[in-house]
Amino acid sequence: MSQAAVEELKEQVRGEVLRPADAGYDEARCIYNAMIDRRPAAIVFCSGTADAAACVRFARERDLPLSIRGGGHNVAGNAVCEGGVMLHMGKLKGVQVDVKNRTATAQPGVTLGDYDGATTPLDLVTPLGVVSRTGIAGLTLGGGLGWLMGKHGLACDNLLGAEVVTAEGKIVQASETENADLLWGLRGGGGNFGIVTELRYRLHRLETTIGGLLIYPLEKSKEVLRFFREITHQCPDELMVAAAILNSPDGIPVSAFVVCYNGDPRQGEKVLAPIRAFGPPVADTVGPVPFIQHQSMFDATYPPGQFHYWKSGFMDSLPEEAMDVAIEHFARRSSPLSSLMIEHMHGVASRIPADATAFPHRFDHYNLSGFGIWADARDHELNRKWVQDFWQAARPYLSGRAYVNYLSQEGADRVREAYGPNYDRLAALKKKYDPTNFFRFNQNIPPAN
Ligand SMILES: Cc1cc2nc3c(=O)[nH]c(=O)nc-3n(C[C@H](O)[C@H](O)[C@H](O)COP(=O)(O)OP(=O)(O)OC[C@H]3O[C@@H](n4cnc5c(N)ncnc54)[C@H](O)[C@@H]3O)c2cc1C
Repeated sequence: MSQAAVEELKEQVRGEVLRPADAGYDEARCIYNAMIDRRPAAIVFCSGTADAAACVRFARERDLPLSIRGGGHNVAGNAVCEGGVMLHMGKLKGVQVDVKNRTATAQPGVTLGDYDGATTPLDLVTPLGVVSRTGIAGLTLGGGLGWLMGKHGLACDNLLGAEVVTAEGKIVQASETENADLLWGLRGGGGNFGIVTELRYRLHRLETTIGGLLIYPLEKSKEVLRFFREITHQCPDELMVAAAILNSPDGIPVSAFVVCYNGDPRQGEKVLAPIRAFGPPVADTVGPVPFIQHQSMFDATYPPGQFHYWKSGFMDSLPEEAMDVAIEHFARRSSPLSSLMIEHMHGVASRIPADATAFPHRFDHYNLSGFGIWADARDHELNRKWVQDFWQAARPYLSGRAYVNYLSQEGADRVREAYGPNYDRLAALKKKYDPTNFFRFNQNIPPAN
């Protein structure tokens, strides 16, 4: 991009524009996953909706790529483009809470921690994810699995409306009464339909949270996973349980349950009693905890700036063979930071009809993830291979469905797996709102023919 073009861009936006030689450029282009090392020609710190619209017009006129960075947490790295314009939302941090109507309006640079920080002191909450630095925008647009999904649904199920800058640079509202098809697409369809400049959410009353980790010796992994399967067969909506095989913070390989109950505390203790009674744990941190603290429990385990390569997929059930694959492959991991996780989806999130939102995976089922994470740039191939080997071994037990927000750069077939029966409707919506596929730095759904 020429200096003259950058000067023009600067005239068209109010936010700061950084070029490669500018101080702060490298920090601004870096995202959570250190594998992503791309150099946009210009980074625009979006100051509001008008800047987003100006960037769309500017990039369109010059046929430049445009990428959008919400919280910068996505491992696929679509937030950063090579050689084009990166629209950085990081300075848009406003959250307005309407206590009377139980809604909140948030800007697209807000992280889960920012959002919870604004709502939970009022005893109000929206179901989001589990690591506080994740951006609400990317998380919600892809679905949003988290501690409260059993009780209140996914983040996208609680998205009531949004302001969107379209591929033509027009500003439109999406709600149940205005452009309802667009709202349907934003509830899981990712960044395919436009730049979201405002998100409006439903809030719920925040009840007592009882949560934490139950850690067991690695040798007990098979029993832990079997017991996990048993618990999840009778899980009330208020309880979320995930299982993981990982290194503890002091470097010891362990298996663990992560639990989060949200509801009446006496009932919670009753529900948790059988889980507590399972074998003697090496450590038990489960107890009443402020929700915002529980929500940041994994922040230290997943710090930014490390190398990530993930593979994950849904499983209809949790067969013994899948447990064996997880246990065997964990033993062969090539980095102490890597882990395997099984999440369970149930309750409200699983009962919403598959065609009610773009996110189609509405069952009581599991998600199996291999998180390859390492700190040394010389180890890329070793760690990628570990994840790929795990994936090949796990594939026979997966249902052929994928969660779009956990995808790396995995190609068109995996995007189809993420949308299943909703794919064709999404492609038709893409044709309506973005017929030239201008917004293509995402898990892309090309416009229908
Ligand atoms: C450590 C870690 C923990 C995670 N935990 C969870 C979890 O508990 N639950 C869960 O569901 N997911 C989780 N995820 C996945 C997470 O939901 C996705 O990575 C999500 O995309 C992150 O959103 P972001 O805004 O931070 O990402 P970004 O990298 O900033 O954005 C990702 C993509 O979203 C789109 N996008 C972002 N902002 C906008 C916008 N304003 N308008 C239009 N499109 C936009 C763009 O296509 C962009 O490329 C986790 C990821 C990590 C790394």
